[in-house]
Amino acid sequence: MDIKQILRDMGFRFNKQFGQNFLTDENLLNNICNDAQIDGGTVLEIGAGAGTLTRVLSKHADSVIAFEIDRNLQKVLDITLADCKNVKVVMADVMRYKMPELESLCGGAYRVVANIPYYLTSPLIMRFVEEATNVTSLTLTIQKEVAERLAAKPATKDYGAITVAVNAVADVEITRILTRDLFYPQPNVDSAVVRITFNRSKFNIPNAALFRKVVRVSFAMRRKTLVNNLSVGFAISKEQAQDLLVACNLPVGCRGEELSVEQFVNLYQTIERLQLK
Ligand code: SAM
Repeated sequence: MDIKQILRDMGFRFNKQFGQNFLTDENLLNNICNDAQIDGGTVLEIGAGAGTLTRVLSKHADSVIAFEIDRNLQKVLDITLADCKNVKVVMADVMRYKMPELESLCGGAYRVVANIPYYLTSPLIMRFVEEATNVTSLTLTIQKEVAERLAAKPATKDYGAITVAVNAVADVEITRILTRDLFYPQPNVDSAVVRITFNRSKFNIPNAALFRKVVRVSFAMRRKTLVNNLSVGFAISKEQAQDLLVACNLPVGCRGEELSVEQFVNLYQTIERLQLK
């Protein structure tokens, strides 16, 4: 199937605003499905584009639900997915769907596999991290720098609040790097495929809102010490913040970015015990 020709024949105009950079290499698309470890089941795709990934997903999964915001792609998808009977296309903005609505479309456990537009990366990942209940993994083609942030180790420049938030409930692995020339049209950054495998019982975090606050506060001013950030964020004295770190076996002069995810969980559990808000 010559996707580029179909797009030309249909007079399709790429819309930059929607981050339309399509993947066409079938081998690569198969490799992405292998990275996603799909063996049947339901896959939710966000941004079907011209349906190239959707077609390959339909071979690996029992059913595929594919969202696409751009109505101009409807007639392209009618052609490219004509023989994919297990695909349901939803022509809509995925961000307008509430998580329970999205999950009820999937019917039970599901994987997300998507080459997502750059502008959606963080909000989309955070929605699944914070709100989804039935998702087992996200295998996403995203900007390489963002993938590196998700997989970063403590005390590196890439390590930040999003790293901790994601790694507290999931395991993150970069499975491949995609150079920009693999996309049509070519973007001006390289990409990576990242697999985020949920494991929500990894840590005991009953009060997710408080955990998020601890992480946000700890990274609020990266140049400041953790004592400073905790003292401002939780309206406590510096001495109280120091006592808190001592109780957590953390050096009083440390910065938030030096803490492992486990240490963040320990800090949060201590803050919860002390009923700080
Ligand atoms: N999956 C295709 C591929 O790999 O070639 C297309 C990927 S392209 C990077 C991202 C797609 O997401 C575009 O087709 C774009 O129109 C669509 N999109 C952007 N924002 C969206 C949204 N909020 N909801 C659903 N689709 C969206």
